[in-house]
Amino acid sequence: MNCSKCHGLMVNDRVYDAEEAIFDLSIWRCLNCGETVDPLILQNRLKQEQESNALPIKAA
Ligand SMILES: [Zn+2]
Repeated sequence: MNCSKCHGLMVNDRVYDAEEAIFDLSIWRCLNCGETVDPLILQNRLKQEQESNALPIKAA
């Protein structure tokens, strides 16, 4: 996987919520610029795009 910003090498990394120890998330982090890609963010982005495409635009 390559970074969407700089096309650098991305490595799999994990983040933890300091307060909620159960929160454990696997993310991608760019070694070059530090950009992080969260799978949930990607999912939400796709979902929102699908929903905005699926829903008809309401006329005022
Ligand atoms: Zn990068």
